[in-house]
Amino acid sequence: MLDEAKRLLKQYFGYASFRNGQKEIIENILNRKNTLGILPTGGGKSLCFQIPSLLFQGTTIVISPLISLMKDQVDSLSTAEIPATYINSSLNNQELKERMSLIKKGAYKLVYAAPERFESAHFIDLLNSIEIPLIAFDEAHCISQWGHDFRPSYRSIVSSLRQLNHNPVIVALTATATENVAGDICSLLAIHAEDTFKTGFARENLAFHVIKGTNKRDFIVQYLLKKPKQSGIIYTSSRKETDHLYSFLTAKGFSCAKYHAGLNEAERKKAQEQFVYDEIDIMIATNAFGMGIDKSNVRFVLHYNLPKNVEAYYQEAGRAGRDGEESECWLLFGAQDIQLQKFLIEETSLDFAKREQEYHKLNQMVMYCHTEECLQSYIIRYFDHEHPPIQCGKCSSCKDSREKIEITREAQMIFSCCKRMGERFGVTLMAQVLKGSGQKRIRELGFDKLSTYGLLRTRSEKDIIDTINYLLAEGYLLMTDGKYPVVKVTHKAIPVLKGVETVMMKKNPDLETFAAESEENLELFEILRVLRKELADQEHVPPFVIFGDSTLKEMCRYYPVTEAAMLQIKGVGQTKFAKYGEVFINAISQFIHDNELEIDSIILPAPKKHVQEDQEEQPSHLLTYQWYMDGVTLEEIARKRQLTKITVQKHIIRSVQEGQPLNWTEIFDEETEQKVLNAIQLCGIEKLKPLWEALNGEIDYFVIQTVICKNQLR
Ligand code: ADP
Ligand code: MG
Repeated sequence: MLDEAKRLLKQYFGYASFRNGQKEIIENILNRKNTLGILPTGGGKSLCFQIPSLLFQGTTIVISPLISLMKDQVDSLSTAEIPATYINSSLNNQELKERMSLIKKGAYKLVYAAPERFESAHFIDLLNSIEIPLIAFDEAHCISQWGHDFRPSYRSIVSSLRQLNHNPVIVALTATATENVAGDICSLLAIHAEDTFKTGFARENLAFHVIKGTNKRDFIVQYLLKKPKQSGIIYTSSRKETDHLYSFLTAKGFSCAKYHAGLNEAERKKAQEQFVYDEIDIMIATNAFGMGIDKSNVRFVLHYNLPKNVEAYYQEAGRAGRDGEESECWLLFGAQDIQLQKFLIEETSLDFAKREQEYHKLNQMVMYCHTEECLQSYIIRYFDHEHPPIQCGKCSSCKDSREKIEITREAQMIFSCCKRMGERFGVTLMAQVLKGSGQKRIRELGFDKLSTYGLLRTRSEKDIIDTINYLLAEGYLLMTDGKYPVVKVTHKAIPVLKGVETVMMKKNPDLETFAAESEENLELFEILRVLRKELADQEHVPPFVIFGDSTLKEMCRYYPVTEAAMLQIKGVGQTKFAKYGEVFINAISQFIHDNELEIDSIILPAPKKHVQEDQEEQPSHLLTYQWYMDGVTLEEIARKRQLTKITVQKHIIRSVQEGQPLNWTEIFDEETEQKVLNAIQLCGIEKLKPLWEALNGEIDYFVIQTVICKNQLR
């Protein structure tokens, strides 16, 4: 029989060999055993019932949750000249009648039906009048309440099956089954544990990436520019977001379509076809798009927002690379997306236990974004707890070449702060207490009296939050489920608290790491560059004669749209303003308008001091320095100038190295200075990191550098 199956594989489908798992599942079905097959998306589940259907007498029934999915499969079977049809609500009465009568005559090898069909006595009668060797449950996780896509109509088929007067073999197929779900499917469909076939969840051709704290739109534009003519899907979490992103990317000239439940059927159909037939490159969609779309050459799937759980994520991301070619899956993480998912959970009519479960799953999705474990490994182990960790070698964790540094002391501070706060608060408040924030709520709760208050004063709040999230992901801390989760310390933290175990984390300890970070809007830069080229061509001069790159870059940082603001840009004096000011202001205004930039976040540079016409004017680092000397805090400068705090510190250091004065006592005291100098005696000043380590990580890089400056050691 198996040889025959292999011949059919070649004859009808044109494939030379079975994929992992297919042979075993087909063989088991041919031996008339109920079977559960768990194969990843794109693993080739359809063939697992299509081939047996050709070998059995009679008509195989396939239960499938979506109309589009049935149609696609029937279409492709028809091109392979395998007689197949479907029965669902998209047919009119006449069509339905015709198909039913052909089914009765045994004209089809496969009939696809929606689960609701089994509620019709007429349909059951029809099935009882023909021979049915096999019933296939495609997307079988829909049968389980534990699954992420539970459909009650799937479950009620089970009782309808008892009304059948023959005893077909049952095969259930799914890509995403946790142990709970698999157990549920087996007990409902009378499948023995030994008849479960699982090829593992790994998708070797997918590279997973998580990216945090970036401007998502900028990222996407840059990403898409690098992937011209490639098929990809961008998932967003709401219709509105899909609409916005669609307009934005279309205006940028990308070839896109959009898909969500708010569009009418004709619009959705058109979008889907454009995508499937490669008429457009990028599909921007909500999670309404995708199930049943068998497009094999999707090269990337980007998630613009956090999905609700790992099952949903893996299914959506798994639509990349069904053809086995290398493909990418990116998740753009923003902490505010967690709130949206919580809101969606609250909106549902789920009972308490189910809701807690959803919160729990959401938590595990968030942990995916914070883990340092290989991302493919994290997903596999999510579905299969027994699976040993792997290293895929191409995800953003595996590719993260930052060194692990010891954070034991920091971790101890976090654990003990959590304990002292009574293990009753969330991540943000914990971080604020450690940071020593002066917030009213913290004083009201008396947390400013805790011994752990302000212990991590020198760190940014974001850095503390990142570390707490990492400790959560690593299991030292746990977050309770529910709407208002609180952080607790687990037993894994005890040896760390006792000082017998250390904690390591990949971090950016070096200031230099951020050196390449861009501060200006690159898209706008592109626009202004083109504009400059046009002007230069008109005047037959090289572009830099009009404005230098650094001038354009400043424009892309400050968005000057008034004469006064423009005149404060380095390289723009009265003469040049008179010639080019207006065109550039117009281009920048247009850009602000097109991108709906908030004026609030657009900051004017500080007034230039004593500048002369077209001279090299106040450089960026001196501007920072000026603000700092005017009493603006580092955080505030960073926020206002849209720089990282590290860049701000570098600006100040550079200004001081160039001879600007600084009030040292505001930055360090004598004792600290002495400590740093002692450490310098030991390790020199070639590299900062060993110095920082020699000081047990207790003294900020900024302080170390200012001490070096003060003593003129460089
Ligand atoms: P799933 O339902 O598991 O997500 P499909 O059944 O839709 O996957 O199959 C995905 C793709 O893999 C299809 O294009 C299919 O034709 C192809 N495929 C299936 N089996 C094989 C095989 N043995 N060899 C090569 N390609 C295969
Ligand atoms: Mg399938």
